[in-house]
Amino acid sequence: MAKVLILGGGFGGVVAAERLAQQLSDEHQITLVARSRNFIFYPALVRLAFGHCEKKDVSFDLRHAMLDRRVNFIEAEVARIDPYEKKVIIAHGELEGQLPYDFLVFALGRRLATERITGFYEHAHHLLNVDKAIQFGKTVSNFQAGRVVLGQCPGTRLPVPVYETAFALARLLSERGERDRVKITLVSPNPLGSEIGDEAGNAIQRVLKDRQIEFLPDFSIISVFEDAVITDRGRRLKFDLLMLLPPFRGSSAASYLGVTNHEGYINVDGTMRVVGHEGIYAVGDSVNFEGPKMGHMAVRQGDVAAANLAAEIEGHEPVSRYTHEMRLVIDDAGSESIYLHKNIWTDAPATLRQGRFWSWAKRVQKEYWEVSHS
Ligand SMILES: Cc1cc2nc3c(=O)[nH]c(=O)nc-3n(C[C@H](O)[C@H](O)[C@H](O)COP(=O)(O)OP(=O)(O)OC[C@H]3O[C@@H](n4cnc5c(N)ncnc54)[C@H](O)[C@@H]3O)c2cc1C
Repeated sequence: MAKVLILGGGFGGVVAAERLAQQLSDEHQITLVARSRNFIFYPALVRLAFGHCEKKDVSFDLRHAMLDRRVNFIEAEVARIDPYEKKVIIAHGELEGQLPYDFLVFALGRRLATERITGFYEHAHHLLNVDKAIQFGKTVSNFQAGRVVLGQCPGTRLPVPVYETAFALARLLSERGERDRVKITLVSPNPLGSEIGDEAGNAIQRVLKDRQIEFLPDFSIISVFEDAVITDRGRRLKFDLLMLLPPFRGSSAASYLGVTNHEGYINVDGTMRVVGHEGIYAVGDSVNFEGPKMGHMAVRQGDVAAANLAAEIEGHEPVSRYTHEMRLVIDDAGSESIYLHKNIWTDAPATLRQGRFWSWAKRVQKEYWEVSHS
């Protein structure tokens, strides 16, 4: 009998748990640990902020969903992993102390490194969790005139919600007849298209121009004041409302493993095994792969890790390899909503599509997750 521990109840952890439950016989024990019993469908948080869906629509109960699949669920905070003694140290929660394992899937996502941007905590809005998204939405609904600055910091690696926020805000202001009173400026530490390719960058540029949204590239914010942001080159930009995504770093629970890069992301091979430790796999935002960090990548990685872990338990060689692809939908651009599919590890040309269909497809994907897990 093998004890399999899955750390994290996001896209990566949930998919790994479900697939392992399908592939392993009942004699093996599968346990999922997460700090919250709610799974959050993050891609819907911009829609939540703008009142297009409700809090109950963006989450489901993990304990309930996991029990249905014969996976034990423990609500607890993971402090660190001891790979030599094969145990996980739990800081607090339903359980305290240590949890032993034979095999581990690390899916704790990334952390928000707000400490790297002076004044972020005091003066910036963001929408990276449910409460912050609702709070930003309330501020937007009372905002009538001035300059709104939206953007990412160096190391954020999540462009989609920034563009979606800009498009949703422009639409809301137009509907309220207040578009002329508000200037929307989007800032990025990178040139447009550097994260998602030139073709998609050009498509976004057309939508930005059409919606009269200013775009400032190479704008690396290092500090935030009450009414202005400052870049590493001393540029200053005033704002009346700021929504800024802070830098990302790897989960601190991985830092003791000795297998992370300089930003704390875990080194894995193409089978999603952690390089340098037996019996440990890592998936999702926590791993050291280039490019944006996205939910569909975590899903695919959870799939690959589960297939290879099941094979390892049965004494077989790895059966599945991961290919690093980017698939994204930038919603709220009406008939110009964007779909992009690109293989990040090859030079194969990207597939780009535009149209209302892609907004609809993104919503259907959310509903699929809700229905299949609740
Ligand atoms: C606003 C927003 C919009 C997005 N839009 C898109 C999109 O359009 N398309 C797309 O593909 N991706 C999108 N993403 C990215 C996507 O949500 C992430 O890539 C995905 O959630 C990563 O999954 P994960 O399982 O690696 O980590 P997460 O989803 O972050 O899950 C981590 C899990 O670990 C738990 N956890 C963390 N630390 C601890 C600890 N110390 N102890 C115990 N539990 C812990 C958490 O509670 C959670 O259960 C978006 C993200 C955001 C925030």
